Amino acid sequence: MTVALDHRPTAGGLPVPFACEDDGGALDHAHVVKRRAIRCALSRICGICGETLSRPIAFFGPESEGDAGLFTFPPVHLPCANAALDLFVPIGGSHLGQVEAPLRWTLVTTGGFDLIRPTRRGDGVTFRPNSVIETRSVE
Ligand SMILES: [Zn+2]
Repeated sequence: MTVALDHRPTAGGLPVPFACEDDGGALDHAHVVKRRAIRCALSRICGICGETLSRPIAFFGPESEGDAGLFTFPPVHLPCANAALDLFVPIGGSHLGQVEAPLRWTLVTTGGFDLIRPTRRGDGVTFRPNSVIETRSVE
C-alpha cells in the first residue's frame, strides 16, 4: 500500500519527499538528505512516501543520470514516482532533490539496485539500478 505524497509535510505549499526531510524535520525540496538516502537503501524504504518498498522499484532523475545509470534520488515505489513526476515536472524549479529542474527526466523500473558510496568524503551516495525492466523519458 502506497500513500504517495498525500501524507507528506509541505513546504511552500508542496509536499516534500521523505528523502528531502532531515531527521530534525527540516524540509528542502532541492536536496536529498544523505542519511535518508542511505536509510532508504539499507531499510528498503521509498524515498517519496517512507513506506516499505515493493517491486518494481523505480528511480527517477535528470536524463543525464538516466544515461549514466546512476541516480541521486533514492529508490521509490512506481506509483510514488509517477505521482511525484506528475506533480513536479510541470512546475519546474528546485524539486525532487534537484537544484535545477532538468529539461527531461528519466524514469527507470528495476528489480534491484546497488548503493554506491562516494569516493570522496562529504559527497552524496548514488544508486545504480542493476536489473532494469523499463526506461522511460518524461518531459
Ligand atoms: Zn512510496
